[in-house]
Amino acid sequence: MRKHLVAGNWKMNLTYSEAKQLLSRIIDQKEKYSPSTEVVICPPAIYLASFSEHLRNHPAIKLGAQNCFHQDAGAYTGETSPAQLKSLDVKYCIIGHSERREHFNESYDLLAKKAKALLRHGIQPIFCCGEQLEVRSSNVYKEFIMKQIEESLFQLKPEEIAQVVIAYEPIWAIGTGKTATAIQAQEVQGLIRARVTKQFGEKVASEMTLLYGGSCKAENARELFAQPDVDGGLVGGASLDAAEFLQISNSF
Ligand code: PEP
Repeated sequence: MRKHLVAGNWKMNLTYSEAKQLLSRIIDQKEKYSPSTEVVICPPAIYLASFSEHLRNHPAIKLGAQNCFHQDAGAYTGETSPAQLKSLDVKYCIIGHSERREHFNESYDLLAKKAKALLRHGIQPIFCCGEQLEVRSSNVYKEFIMKQIEESLFQLKPEEIAQVVIAYEPIWAIGTGKTATAIQAQEVQGLIRARVTKQFGEKVASEMTLLYGGSCKAENARELFAQPDVDGGLVGGASLDAAEFLQISNSF
């Protein structure tokens, strides 16, 4: 179902005690979050079990993972399965983040498998896509992004893709402080919804939640979230500050 959603990607940041302090600050301000926005935090995997316990009595804050494997169990040393995430009440899982595509060579097919495996367990994938600066400059960014979506997500059935959250994250904006303009974000996200409409129909496309990510902050969130196809944000650096994360989450 399409919704306003703000997800914090903590990446490989914070020691356990620092992470618990940040979680406490987020929980302390839970009354201030707008009830019409889904607020998700994605801490490092090693903290998920403890966070799941802490969040048991705070349903306003949902738990997300930053990655998963596509098998349910077995000899896959170091990996985490969607079944295991499900057992911790994880509701979302980021897949295909540009950092994983770059450092771990994640392929289109692997991401399709991860998306399907998550959906089998009722976990919503947050599927990231986005172009490098060279691709943006050479003006083939629209084709590049559409290919990322077509090659992975068009392997899903209509009822599956309707559950996928797509995060458009231009790589040149991630962690750089250089945010895409609201017009740039809307251009790409409008194209994504139009492409899904063409492939799967209006109903499926209108159910999808589309996020923007890349130096999203309190000072630019309002303008970005006002765009018709920007349903929220995937927030990296700014999600490590509880007050700023709250402000971003309340920017609709
Ligand atoms: C991200 O990595 O998903 C991200 C959006 O990072 P930042 O907000 O720090 O650019």
